Amino acid sequence: MALPLPSSLSPSKVASFKDCALAFRFSAIDHLPEAPSAPATKGTLVHRALELLFCRQPGERSLVTALSCLDQARAELSTDPEYTGLELTPEEEADFAADAERLLRNYFQLEDPSTVHPIGLELQLEAQVGNLRLRGIIDRLELGPEGELIVTDYKSGKSPSVNYEQGRLGGVHFYAFLCQQVLGRRPARVQLLYLSEPLAIVAEPSEQSVRGLEQRTSAIWTAVERACEREDFRPRVSPLCDWCSFRAYCPAWGGDPAAASELLPAGTV
Ligand code: SF4
Repeated sequence: MALPLPSSLSPSKVASFKDCALAFRFSAIDHLPEAPSAPATKGTLVHRALELLFCRQPGERSLVTALSCLDQARAELSTDPEYTGLELTPEEEADFAADAERLLRNYFQLEDPSTVHPIGLELQLEAQVGNLRLRGIIDRLELGPEGELIVTDYKSGKSPSVNYEQGRLGGVHFYAFLCQQVLGRRPARVQLLYLSEPLAIVAEPSEQSVRGLEQRTSAIWTAVERACEREDFRPRVSPLCDWCSFRAYCPAWGGDPAAASELLPAGTV
């Protein structure tokens, strides 16, 4: 019996299928819950602080305001299972907060937020390509000096090495494609702001790069359809296994994939 197809693809799901088809199946098809991770939760916190900062008037977007936005974001997150599930010790909590503040301070080395004209924050966009629904969240959509569209994506993890940079820019073209489909205009610029370094990677999407993304995504969708039809999602061992929530159930590490259903909440199996 064929497995059900996922209802949509996002940039992270596309990357996950390419990284390891079995991990993709566990997450996107079997919907197994994943334990929260400190780096991902820190990313959520800093994204929220920057969202709050850009809700303020341009002249108010100082570092002092940003730090108070971070305090507000921490208060909002403090009771969320994404944070409480980390079960941090008081010492780890202090490190977590200090590192989030470091990322926010680094942001100010990349741009002056008072010069930015946002027209959308945490914008959810969806577009149909054939029988595939593409879905993505744009951290910030803004107007440039000439009225052109600019997409900004904040990254709280490490920047990609030169070898991986081109692959990670695939996400850039994904956002450009969504803008073109939903808003009828291709953004003039897409920028990835890596807060840890800090470093900005900027790309100017072209008609050709967006068409290439459409073709590559369609090819990945065909591969997902085939894997579902054959129930054939193979593990791909890599350094990412060290962070994989499903390693205990992975046959490449001696686990039994059938036992992974024990991760589902009671009553959903
Ligand atoms: S442990 Fe590695 S090979 Fe196994 S599912 Fe996770 S990422 Fe894939």
